[in-house]
Amino acid sequence: MLNIKLNSKSSIYSGPTSLARFDAWLLKKNYSKIFILVDENTHQHCLPVFLNELSNLKHFEILEMPIGEENKILSISEQLWISLSDLNCDRNALLINLGGGVVSDMGGFIASTYKRGIDFVNIPTTLLAMVDASIGGKNGIDLNGIKNVVGTINLPQLVCVFPDFLKTLSKREFMNGMAEVFKHALIADSAYWNILVKCNIEKLSTEELANIVDTSVAIKSLIVKQDLNETGLRKTLNYGHTVGHALEAFFLQNGKSVLHGEAVIEGILIENTIAVKKGILGKKEAETIKKELRKYYNALNYKLSDISTIINFMLHDKKNNSSSINLALISAIGSCNEKVECTKEEIHEALQNYLLA
Ligand code: NAD
Ligand code: ZN
Repeated sequence: MLNIKLNSKSSIYSGPTSLARFDAWLLKKNYSKIFILVDENTHQHCLPVFLNELSNLKHFEILEMPIGEENKILSISEQLWISLSDLNCDRNALLINLGGGVVSDMGGFIASTYKRGIDFVNIPTTLLAMVDASIGGKNGIDLNGIKNVVGTINLPQLVCVFPDFLKTLSKREFMNGMAEVFKHALIADSAYWNILVKCNIEKLSTEELANIVDTSVAIKSLIVKQDLNETGLRKTLNYGHTVGHALEAFFLQNGKSVLHGEAVIEGILIENTIAVKKGILGKKEAETIKKELRKYYNALNYKLSDISTIINFMLHDKKNNSSSINLALISAIGSCNEKVECTKEEIHEALQNYLLA
């Protein structure tokens, strides 16, 4: 059970009593209206659970958006703004985002911009949203197929992490979120890594799962608290992501379904080989990490001739300039250097060796 204060206006509750604590929080507030944003799945699977836990939430309006990343776009934002307006949403209303990262990114964005900003609360229902997307105040939508181009940095009043929602999540979506969990351990906490490798991730007990969620929520929150605007430390959360995002974009373009977390795991393994080559990370440690992650995640397949396309995706990533690419690399399990300059050649070689391994 966690209760973290990110700043004077934003807190995170995590654990089995988080919704009961949200219920008590709501009682102290005087919102003019309450709106709940869901997608079709969270409407069906999570809303009944949510309402069952909240005795103080009696009057509300439901806004439903269609499922999936392809709907994290401006036309849907516009429909949601219009719905808020039609339902007489004023500046003293609250928007509750009940869903995965798509719902919290979209909901955070429309709440931050509607009437120049209304309060919002994130209730994440996927593991990825619990340990990552719902925390940290990044809200946004995609533009022209490019992810998160339009958005705000604005913290929710509250994030409530209630692990029971995970019961209806598919195994693949669960492992998608576990990629961020492994990342948290690798960048920040070697003891946490040792706990993770001793667990059977596919058969976690309720208690093990609650502890994992709490630990990752704490790691991400602590990083965000110290560096909300990503000037330094927060960049460590990009570990595995520069290469991972490029792989994700490459496979998307080629019509192959690769989830974000699946691409990030391969990004981690490829970036580790760069760290080893540069003498930053020990070879043995990189091999241990690979052995553990391969228990759950399969290698991805691209052709040698695809490597320059993959590197081009990295160069278009907003976090890089044209000649070199900055990576967040680990120097040991639990310790990450947020900015290591790498050449295109070093990355090319790592992407090539990945195919030969
Ligand atoms: P998602 O919201 O699309 O959820 C994945 C799928 O699970 C969807 O089909 C959803 O309807 C379904 N679902 C959600 N909760 C469920 C439940 N409890 N039971 C059954 N089904 C459920 O995707 P996601 O992986 O949660 O989030 C990905 C999004 O998060 C991306 O758009 C990404 O850009 C964003 N993101 C944002 C940040 C940030 O800091 N803002 C960080 C990481 C990711
Ligand atoms: Zn990620």
